[in-house]
Amino acid sequence: MGQNDMHIQSVAVIGAGTMGSGIAQVCAQTGWKTWIYDLDRNVLERSYSYIDDYWKKGIELQKTSIEDVNAWKSNLKLMYELDDLMKPIDLVIEAVPENLDLKRNIFQKLDKITDRQTILATNTSGLSISKIANSTKFPNRVIGMHFFNPVPKMDLLELVKHPEIDQRTIDFAKFVGNEMGKKTILVSDTPGFATSRLGVVLGNEAIRMLDEGVASAEDIDFAMRIGYNHPMGPLELSDLVGLDVRRDILSSLEAELVDQRYKPHPLLDKLVKRGEIGKKVGKGIYDWTDGGNKKQRDF
Ligand code: NAD
Repeated sequence: MGQNDMHIQSVAVIGAGTMGSGIAQVCAQTGWKTWIYDLDRNVLERSYSYIDDYWKKGIELQKTSIEDVNAWKSNLKLMYELDDLMKPIDLVIEAVPENLDLKRNIFQKLDKITDRQTILATNTSGLSISKIANSTKFPNRVIGMHFFNPVPKMDLLELVKHPEIDQRTIDFAKFVGNEMGKKTILVSDTPGFATSRLGVVLGNEAIRMLDEGVASAEDIDFAMRIGYNHPMGPLELSDLVGLDVRRDILSSLEAELVDQRYKPHPLLDKLVKRGEIGKKVGKGIYDWTDGGNKKQRDF
């Protein structure tokens, strides 16, 4: 089946945190009926108001019309129980925390409650897609769809295949990505894929340099922005992604590749243990409590 014969009408997003919210927002904007679910009811409702605020701001800035926003809003529905998942549904995208057992449990459940033609995608940053796919009876319909943060703004979508995948699943995921306005790359199922492995190593090394007093956080970020033309420095990016997310990716790379180079730096571990996990909570490597502007902290 070619991409011209493909169609999609409905999507469910599991997990309404940083990534799930962004993915659901773009799906609704693309014109699909979009269901979003989170275990935590407050997070789910906060996600809806966050998306709603984003859209309202678009109207204020005259980037979008009231009619469009009304249509997008009518596409977006909150789901309070996973068992309420509508059937038939074309695609489910999972975006719960980076924990293999948690993701495998969710896929086992999705395998039971969805029709066989539903494509099941995981937004994992680096866990084994094979291990997630093999928790289901039909791994051929499981794929990695790795979006980037913030999803409405970032163009890349990294698709991850595994030995048991169907070509139809890959074609469908490419089609979905194109419809969402993303540019896709296809990578093999190796720890950290093509992007996370390099990204977290850069962030971890920047934290080590900060801890060793090589330069201030601002200067390390400035150096990479101005000297290497990165749009954002590695420390501010770590705060944006979430230090917990980055620490989890490093830990899983360390375990999977059996290599100490990926060991999370103790300062990263310390901040995560204190709950200072980045911009989403107001504090991480930087202090973000001043209206989202960053300020240096002393460690
Ligand atoms: P997050 O912590 O912001 O959100 C995860 C959400 O999942 C939370 O709201 C939590 O309540 C919910 N959740 C936990 N268990 C659940 C369950 N059983 N059922 C439903 N919801 C459940 O995390 P995030 O940053 O959005 O990351 C989600 C996934 O996306 C991770 O696998 C991460 O590695 C990946 N990812 C993150 C980024 C990033 O920049 N943050 C980028 C790309 C990929």
